[in-house]
Amino acid sequence: MPSKEMYALGSQASVIRDLFAYGQEQAAVVGRENVFDFSIGNPTVPAPACVKEAIEEIVATRQSVDVHGYTAAAGDLAVRRGLADYMNQTYDAGVSADNFYMTCGAAASLTVTLKALVESPEDEVIVVAPFFPEYTVFIHNAGAKEVVLPPDTEHFQISLEAMEQAITPHTRAIIVNSPNNPAGTVYSADTYTKLAALLTKKSADIGHSIYLISDEPYREIIYDGLPILYVPKFYANTIICYSYSKSLSLPGERIGYILVPDCAADAKAVYTAVCGAGRAMGFVCAPHLFQDVVLKCMGKLSDMNIYDENRKLLYNGLKEMGYECVYPSGAFYLFVKSPEPDANAFSEKAKKLNLLIVPADSFGCPGYVRISYCVDPDMIRRSFAAFKTLIESYA
Ligand code: PLP
Repeated sequence: MPSKEMYALGSQASVIRDLFAYGQEQAAVVGRENVFDFSIGNPTVPAPACVKEAIEEIVATRQSVDVHGYTAAAGDLAVRRGLADYMNQTYDAGVSADNFYMTCGAAASLTVTLKALVESPEDEVIVVAPFFPEYTVFIHNAGAKEVVLPPDTEHFQISLEAMEQAITPHTRAIIVNSPNNPAGTVYSADTYTKLAALLTKKSADIGHSIYLISDEPYREIIYDGLPILYVPKFYANTIICYSYSKSLSLPGERIGYILVPDCAADAKAVYTAVCGAGRAMGFVCAPHLFQDVVLKCMGKLSDMNIYDENRKLLYNGLKEMGYECVYPSGAFYLFVKSPEPDANAFSEKAKKLNLLIVPADSFGCPGYVRISYCVDPDMIRRSFAAFKTLIESYA
């Protein structure tokens, strides 16, 4: 028999995948145009032109072994230097190539970082609800205990009182994600300032540094001119987990990085542990071609205006019908309060109208649904009649 734990993980169905599969089946029955699939967060905006140009140029001008061979385990030095220059110019980050470890996307960044930080089975990692459900899997895999901070359903920021209570002498790290999946909210400078003060005080109380793991795959998907904040400027003990899955629409290519800035406590040792964790987990040498592609596309983005248009269309449309929606400031998700306490029942009713929306129980926030708007804007318009029928059934 294989590992019971891994077997259980492999056999568990995900609500999102289930809904997505259902949508595919229904499309064959009622026609693709009559299924309104808002379940999955797969970018629909194409990668910017620089991606294709970079691939073509690299393949046309370099030898096969230079394109497809191994790089250093932490990633190609020129790529990490380019990244450091970019982060210094954009955020005044004060980093160098040695602070970066290239990875296969945010999932690998997170699993490697957690593995590098967790020391004992007593260690606790705090996640802030609502949160990306895979965090639970990654934390358990690192051998730590997950502690869930209840959601701040008023502002969808971080409840500092709840955080203060959640921190114990075993707290090793806290994962934050802004812009947030699934709430679509962005943490403010005020939130980070207060969080930093609390974590500094608590680290002193418990006698060791609490690390903040900032999961940033949606960093640049931010609206209304809100600033992009460089989290280590607020709290020095921050480790950034980044991915190009959303910013360059490259989720299938698996490319991202971990940034351990020098200002983090024991930065050199943490970076070395990141290299060790990457090695132990087999995440060495992120895809070479795409390391080179992101170097050539540094600072470029997919067209975020398309998501912004979808955001306004969906938010305004649903608000007008009477849905209670969290104002979306980032990412490409609209978080909506279920008109009945059980969001699973609400999602089931929606499903009968071929509206596929995800109950947020698995995101640690019962009573809400996530509507992913990285979709065709025409589908949003066509879905409005079904959304109207659905809310009227609660009148
Ligand atoms: N973190 C969050 C909040 C996400 O939403 C996702 C993917 O949707 C990931 C991490 C994983 O990203 P990647 O596909 O780059 O591994």
